[in-house]
Amino acid sequence: MDRIQVRTHQRKEFVDITREVTDCVRKARIGRGTCTVFVPHTTCGLTINENADPSVTDDILRTLCSLVPESGRYRHAEGNSDAHIQSSLTGHSLHLIVEESRLMLGTWQGIYLCEFDGPRNREVWVKCSE
Ligand code: ZN
Repeated sequence: MDRIQVRTHQRKEFVDITREVTDCVRKARIGRGTCTVFVPHTTCGLTINENADPSVTDDILRTLCSLVPESGRYRHAEGNSDAHIQSSLTGHSLHLIVEESRLMLGTWQGIYLCEFDGPRNREVWVKCSE
């Protein structure tokens, strides 16, 4: 298993980790198989979406924030329930296909760590299997 370290800089932001995940796949030296990407955190998540126009991820983040506002009738005393809920909405893992040692992504797809309660030091776990 590989670990990717990600430093986030805002409370809410998407960080493109496509290159880092691609590097893990290359290092794994498998011809074909699968790649699992996982975040071991309860207030961030992972998603795949367009990496050409940054307004797409901005729109996703803004929509998640309007669906789940920072303050609401939450019971969790730490004050970051919005982040926990947004984390569950995006999910914590991705399952990707590897062919000819390459990560198979669509032309416009990028892999994003979704920070919902930063800034923090985050870790992403990557496991490739034949
Ligand atoms: Zn909390």
